[in-house]
Amino acid sequence: MQRCDVLIVGGGPAGSSCAWALRNSGLDVVVMDKMAFPRDKVCAGWITPAVIEELNLDMEIYRQQHVFQPITGFRVGLIGGPMHEIPYDHAVSYAIRRFEFDDYLLRRSGARLRLGEPLKNLARTGEGWLVNGSLQADVIVGAGGHFCPVARFLGADVGRTELAVNAQECEFEIKVPERHSYPMEAGIPELYFCDDLKGYGWCVRKGDFINIGLGREENLGIAQHVTAFQRFLMKNARIPSDLELRFKGHAYLLYRHARRRLVDDGVLLIGDAAGLAYTQSGEGIRPAVESGLMAAATILQAKEYYSRDALEAYTRRLTSRLGTRTHDWSDMLPMFVKSRLSGKLLASRWFVQHLLLDCWFLHADEPHLRSS
Ligand SMILES: Cc1cc2nc3c(=O)[nH]c(=O)nc-3n(C[C@H](O)[C@H](O)[C@H](O)COP(=O)(O)OP(=O)(O)OC[C@H]3O[C@@H](n4cnc5c(N)ncnc54)[C@H](O)[C@@H]3O)c2cc1C
Repeated sequence: MQRCDVLIVGGGPAGSSCAWALRNSGLDVVVMDKMAFPRDKVCAGWITPAVIEELNLDMEIYRQQHVFQPITGFRVGLIGGPMHEIPYDHAVSYAIRRFEFDDYLLRRSGARLRLGEPLKNLARTGEGWLVNGSLQADVIVGAGGHFCPVARFLGADVGRTELAVNAQECEFEIKVPERHSYPMEAGIPELYFCDDLKGYGWCVRKGDFINIGLGREENLGIAQHVTAFQRFLMKNARIPSDLELRFKGHAYLLYRHARRRLVDDGVLLIGDAAGLAYTQSGEGIRPAVESGLMAAATILQAKEYYSRDALEAYTRRLTSRLGTRTHDWSDMLPMFVKSRLSGKLLASRWFVQHLLLDCWFLHADEPHLRSS
């Protein structure tokens, strides 16, 4: 029988951030993940600078062995509409490959790792938790992403009544002879919005890799949107027309629309397991990292008394950081109004640069967690 202070289920950015913060304070932490690492994660791989700051990452060291693409501008428009080119005079974001990034963060966390092992059994005992019949822990942190088994344990109706973003992406390496003539510029992602504003497609070049995908907040029909988007990109010569792309899909919840219970006695949820991605952009890595750090702070503050009441401090931290979970006026608008609005809004350069990019996608004015 193994023992630890905290068991984290899931070694993505949420789980590894939480583990890193707890290990830095001397707790004994195990991270269990059903996959062996490095592993692929369906994602565009775009991170905002806060992630680097909050995790105290040394970019110079990281970029020596991993793809790390500074982003210095965007091309933005409606699918099939005119595009705005918005340049910045500094790096406003970075593109990474999740295959590399997640593995790096997990190894750096200093936690003991149980990889290739799914969570199968979770039982409450007098002393805390018994997991898979072979590991005892005082606290469990559910960081297993959208389909996290700990979220199910807490009653989440995963994949049934929840309205989720469904998204598909494909990442591939550009062939050597095509690297210089490729139409997509590295560091200038292209964002193509659907005219009903339920989602958007993207094309991101990171070094010699391209990531293409599309996500929409609706439970059905993503495949046909992705096929149409792929045809659109080929027709407009953004990608070669003879490419055979194999898309992979995943789902996750947007913060304002998610309703999962986040804590109970000796257990809390972080990252996608808690449904935290930013509502307007779908960015989930920063909220995953921040929730991991906030969960760690709450666990440390609870000083071994991990009652539901003590852990509720985590929910309060999240609410004060991300706001209250409510629907807003834009959720009420009928589709034909949204379609008319989308054309007008995305035709405005001011809207695209200052509201859509600076506010909603880059959170440029929001202080980092550590400084706030
Ligand atoms: C197509 C797509 C594109 C995206 N693009 C971006 C982007 O560019 N930028 C951004 O910020 N966000 C993006 N997101 C969202 C982002 O990927 C997630 O919000 C983020 O990965 C959440 O991190 P996490 O650690 O909570 O979960 P995950 O990264 O999903 O990690 C969960 C881990 O739990 C493990 N696990 C699952 N079940 C079990 C089990 N039963 N037992 C043990 N382990 C288990 C998994 O193997 C996995 O390693 C995108 C999402 C999608 C679908």
